[in-house]
Amino acid sequence: MQVPGLIQFDDWQDIYASRMETMRSSAVRDLFAAASRSDIISLSGGMPDIRNLPLETVSKVAADAVLKEGVAGLQYGNTTGREQTKEVVCRLMKDLNIEVVPADVTITSGGQQALDLIGKIFISKGDLIITEGPTYLGALQAFSAYEPNILTIPFDEEGMKTDLLEAELARLVAESPDGRHGVKFLYTIPNFHNPGGVTISLARRKHLLELSHTYKFLIIEDDPYGRLRFSGTPVPALRSMDANVVYLGTVSKVFAPGLRTGWVIAPRPILAKLNLAKQGADLCGSALNQVIVEHYFNDTDWQSELDKMIGLYAKRRDAMLEALEHFFPAESTWTHPEGGLFVWVTLPEYVDTPQMLSVALDKGVTFVPGDGCYPGGSGMGRNAMRIAFCYEEPKNIREAIRRLGKVIEERMELYRAFMDAGAL
Ligand code: PMP
Repeated sequence: MQVPGLIQFDDWQDIYASRMETMRSSAVRDLFAAASRSDIISLSGGMPDIRNLPLETVSKVAADAVLKEGVAGLQYGNTTGREQTKEVVCRLMKDLNIEVVPADVTITSGGQQALDLIGKIFISKGDLIITEGPTYLGALQAFSAYEPNILTIPFDEEGMKTDLLEAELARLVAESPDGRHGVKFLYTIPNFHNPGGVTISLARRKHLLELSHTYKFLIIEDDPYGRLRFSGTPVPALRSMDANVVYLGTVSKVFAPGLRTGWVIAPRPILAKLNLAKQGADLCGSALNQVIVEHYFNDTDWQSELDKMIGLYAKRRDAMLEALEHFFPAESTWTHPEGGLFVWVTLPEYVDTPQMLSVALDKGVTFVPGDGCYPGGSGMGRNAMRIAFCYEEPKNIREAIRRLGKVIEERMELYRAFMDAGAL
């Protein structure tokens, strides 16, 4: 019997699949325990601030879901999702000039399941895929289970540097014996990137699509944050410009992540493969959650709830950017998001953010060290961090940035002292 609190040795080490060697726990998930301490100011989690959602409305929606739909929400459903949920998705997509019908949509358990299914149907061990670097660590987790090689392309304030992508594609073709680049797909988060906060400009979107035609590779457009814009002008979705792009959406950041409802829009042959993979994964998603989502988007003024949330995030982003100007050393740089939840900070090369995290925790602040947002073993991102402005009040954000700035200054001073002493 396992005694609670005692460490149990893993006697099963020899039988795990080789893919477990490349799977890493997400630093963010690991941080959740620390972040829930009441004395901690958390800049680590990307949790939407749903504390102001009108619970009366939501509970009415949930009650309606059961009373009006009967047992439909309690029964097994289609693998691809409920027709009515897909209709809601089609409506949401129309706002983005993406014209689709329910047969183009599969409902998934959050965007996260879509990432896993995409990995499952496209990646064989050793296949090459391309992502932004840094990228969403949950995507790295999902894809790495299928053991790909991951090539990363950096971004700047205009999003992914497509000129570098073009150079990499040309290099891959030139170096390959059969003249093929071998890229299975390119995964991108074009709006308010996680962790980057940046948005791909229209010119670069066009360039990216052009490259996908010239070099023939599939684009996966992951868009959980597109509706969370506080300033600037919206940029068209890649999928609205090219029907061969696979588009991933979710209600997590516009309603509630607890409902685990996302969707995939893909060309029909790809969707058929994805649905096959989904059957083996879960038979079908939660029908009850889908019914709740339908009623929320059909029967309530969800947009005005979202607008309130966006108003909060805008104030918090402003507080964060102002505090960074004030408290972070001149040698650091950061992104200036026009929406979403995150800022990406780059520090002098010698500041090691994974090491710095425990010191910051001591000072009551959490953040995500940048190395977790790159493929394992790349060694990149150790002087960078993701800080989220979505969950704390402006005054806490300011205080957290003040404390972090101090921790960084101290580490820089230490480095300079070592340098002066000739110790490094
Ligand atoms: N993609 C990105 C870029 C994300 O940041 C997240 C969640 N933070 C997801 C997908 C998955 O979200 P969910 O499963 O809640 O839809």
